[in-house]
Amino acid sequence: MALITCQEALDLVAEHVAALSTRTSVEHVPLDQSLGRVLAKPIHADRDQPPFPRSTRDGYAVRAADRGARKLIGSVRAGEVWTGSPLAEGEAVEVMTGAPVPDGADAVVMLEHVEATTTTVNISGDHLPSTGDNVVPRGQEAIAGDVLLHAGVRLTAAEIALAASVGASELDVYLQPVAAILATGDELVAVDQTPAQHQIRNSNSHALAALVRQHGGAPRLLPPALDTRESLLERLTAARDAELLLLSGGVSAGKYDLVEDVLLSLGSEFYFTGVRIQPGKPAVFGRLPATDTHAEQWIFGLPGNPVSTLVTALLFAMPMLRALGGELSPRPRFVQATLATEVKVRPGLTRFVAAKLSSSLHPVTVEPVASHGSGDLVGNARADAYIAVPSEVDTLAASATVSVLLR
Ligand code: AMP
Ligand code: MG
Repeated sequence: MALITCQEALDLVAEHVAALSTRTSVEHVPLDQSLGRVLAKPIHADRDQPPFPRSTRDGYAVRAADRGARKLIGSVRAGEVWTGSPLAEGEAVEVMTGAPVPDGADAVVMLEHVEATTTTVNISGDHLPSTGDNVVPRGQEAIAGDVLLHAGVRLTAAEIALAASVGASELDVYLQPVAAILATGDELVAVDQTPAQHQIRNSNSHALAALVRQHGGAPRLLPPALDTRESLLERLTAARDAELLLLSGGVSAGKYDLVEDVLLSLGSEFYFTGVRIQPGKPAVFGRLPATDTHAEQWIFGLPGNPVSTLVTALLFAMPMLRALGGELSPRPRFVQATLATEVKVRPGLTRFVAAKLSSSLHPVTVEPVASHGSGDLVGNARADAYIAVPSEVDTLAASATVSVLLR
């Protein structure tokens, strides 16, 4: 098994992702059902933003160049417009946050910085205004017609807020990519079955289905395959329609690890068949090319140990899934954090150590959780991230800055 580095494997996935053709299947969804979907058409500003010079404070609109006490001539709140004549020299208008600043005024002085009566406004000498203070000019954020959100953007609350602000009550989004999920192993029973002592429940299919949903795809669970050529062939044939196939198990070097062989017999290409990582070393990335009857199918053969399955899916398969959903340049989510305690590992492989991020802000710290390796779903559930320990390193000192894979 030829092993490549973790970075090389990430780059290979990214290369194939970059070469994917643009998605074409689009559907229309209401704004409030668009969370996590990927925009298929850009969203434009329907008018200048802000549409009027907007006060950012409660205070008094004035002409910055004027001197001395101002004459208070009225008031405008958010939702109103000033209908009087433009501000003349020496005049002030009371304004509230979000209100349109009257014509003629070029600054807003904060409420806290004036002494006002019902007829006059005296600005404290320490807070004399400059032109533009506390006023967002019309069109500062966007001009009518500007592209605000590009096709290929995945919609979170921030994008949904922006879309709502320009009246996009319905959105064009790409169809969700279908990911077929196939667990393999003679030892597997369904979650609702009672396993005999030598059997285990198939948790990987459910983990992968959840990940697929989380990353914007539609999972299609197949019944697990046995570790025989016939069973694998039958399931792979049934899964062939899906754009993406996620397999778990059967990719190690054992006598009953037949996944690669069977894929090869179906005409699969492989881009990697092993990565210098732990957990997840036997991970496989390949593709069944398009035929007369089928489109191409991207394939990830993920090692069966449950934590290996999760980590390799996060690193390699989810970026491909996101790309098949139309997202531009998807990447695994890595952040940097400060290590709370020393971490020791055996060098030679990039290690992903189950860990928990702190809620502290400066610095954000990360700490390994008690865990017994790639089979330990109990320890894994205590974690919310994985510390990525570089392959050449055997010790990461406490307070070192480390890379962390988010999940
Ligand atoms: P494999 O990669 O097929 O050698 O599987 C390694 C180990 O992962 C097996 O011995 C099982 O304990 C575990 N395993 C494999 N498939 C699953 C699955 N679908 N759900 C939970 N655990 C699994
Ligand atoms: Mg197996």
